[in-house]
Amino acid sequence: MRATGRVTAAAALAAALLLSPHGAAAAAVGPAPCVRGESEARGDSSVDGKELRWEDDSKYNDPLKWAHKVWSLGLVKIAPDGAGSVNDLEWRDYSKADGHAGYWQGKPGVDYIYLNSYYLDGRYKDRASRRHVAVHELGHALGMCHKPDTWASVMWTKVVDNPPTEPTHRDEANYRKLWK
Ligand SMILES: [Zn+2]
Repeated sequence: MRATGRVTAAAALAAALLLSPHGAAAAAVGPAPCVRGESEARGDSSVDGKELRWEDDSKYNDPLKWAHKVWSLGLVKIAPDGAGSVNDLEWRDYSKADGHAGYWQGKPGVDYIYLNSYYLDGRYKDRASRRHVAVHELGHALGMCHKPDTWASVMWTKVVDNPPTEPTHRDEANYRKLWK
């Protein structure tokens, strides 16, 4: 690459990630790409204007509270639904051995995040995994796409051991690109 005298921004960022996977050079990281076939758009979110009003019908209080906190990055107001506001997102639980720790469902009207107690009370019952799943799904509600696992992100398609429990610098960059 150097020989040509031209290094694309994407190539430079990829190289920086490879050399510094833990964000040692935290300054000015750019957004990560989506996995093939996905994109990031405000229209694919639960956000109404710059607000996300949620209602809680889930038993996973700690992961929910955590997810709302760590995604409160200044551009989208995340707040409980109240009298006089329109509910945008509802957290619900279900239990099924369907291979999903949880999922976000966007549709006309209110959107839903379903947390799967089959796994969150089983294989992923530790605090970090539960928080990761809630943060990942709330990421979808904020319009975030899945990211390749070569990029530091809470938006990987699979739950890993010791998963990240809050948005990485990359995730913040994607969030700012979408909502600034
Ligand atoms: Zn997902």
